[in-house]
Amino acid sequence: MTIAEERAVAPIVAADDCDPDYELLCDPDIPCAPDNCNPDCVPGYCNPGWLRRATGFLWLDLTRDCMLHCGHCYNESGPNGDQKLLPVLGSSASLMEPGEWFSVLDQAMRAEVSLIQLIGGEPTMYAGFSAVLGHALNIGLKVEIYTNLVSIRDEWWEQFRHPGVLLATSYYSDDPKEHHRITERDTHRQTRTNIVKALGLGIPLRVGMVQVYPEQRIDEARAELVSLGVPPNRIRLDRERAFGRGQRDHVACDPNELCGNCGLGRAAIGPDGTVTPCIMAGWLKAGNVRTEPLEAILNGDGMARATVTIPRRTRTDVACDPDCVPQNPCDPRDGGDACDPATPPSECNPKGQK
Ligand code: SF4
Repeated sequence: MTIAEERAVAPIVAADDCDPDYELLCDPDIPCAPDNCNPDCVPGYCNPGWLRRATGFLWLDLTRDCMLHCGHCYNESGPNGDQKLLPVLGSSASLMEPGEWFSVLDQAMRAEVSLIQLIGGEPTMYAGFSAVLGHALNIGLKVEIYTNLVSIRDEWWEQFRHPGVLLATSYYSDDPKEHHRITERDTHRQTRTNIVKALGLGIPLRVGMVQVYPEQRIDEARAELVSLGVPPNRIRLDRERAFGRGQRDHVACDPNELCGNCGLGRAAIGPDGTVTPCIMAGWLKAGNVRTEPLEAILNGDGMARATVTIPRRTRTDVACDPDCVPQNPCDPRDGGDACDPATPPSECNPKGQK
């Protein structure tokens, strides 16, 4: 029996029974019923079953390497990001090998995870990126790849055309110079070209925008994305979050900077196997997949202790931002980018050691 067969679950309610506001978020493969609702959400909103049925979404945070060096990057990714991360993690620290990720994916599938996101850093810069993606798809997981779309090899485009793949990217401005100012690299043309290519290939794409400067050409960039063919409800705007390089003079490890949904049906696994409730909550360590089974960590005391410190919010408080989970069940708008790719040390050090 395959893993997919082992964990096959009959849908509770058909997707089209869900609240219309969530129509776009309803996935026929994901059980959904009114009583799945997160108590923090407005009653009647369609919640994919993962909220009630434990973790259904995982970030796989593969690397701190990135060809860009955005000033707001919440985990301080950039060129040589892994080299900078490892000393912070400890003298014996090492990145997860592809085979270790395969094991995590197999465990995730058995634990009824349905969707993962490959992120970093720039996840395509992880040496085993293609292998990890291929393994996830082969065992039946849906995979969102959060990439800056700067450099995509031809063979990866072939993989991206798999029906289980979703793409997400960040876009900051229609002005290449402003994009350069934010990312510290002259790569606007590459990202824009690959947005057009993804859309042309029919690959589902959502785009996150982070407002870094008050004068930033957000409206113009959004209009450009729509003109290129990105569905308006797949474009999200968030503010800079005070983590990593975005921390600036803000206090470190401020849980109020989180959206409040961390750990609710979602969790993150860092480059060294550390599990946390969110990619932005790197200081809240719940365990490590190298020393414990994934499901035991997700349902264990460590995760309970990690999540209890996170302020929960109602929908009226905040529209579930940062909205870094595809198909966020708490927000009728899809996607979002707040949880941009990420990295290493800061005082707060998401993904690193405190
Ligand atoms: S925000 Fe994303 S693209 Fe920018 S440096 Fe960080 S990981 Fe790279």
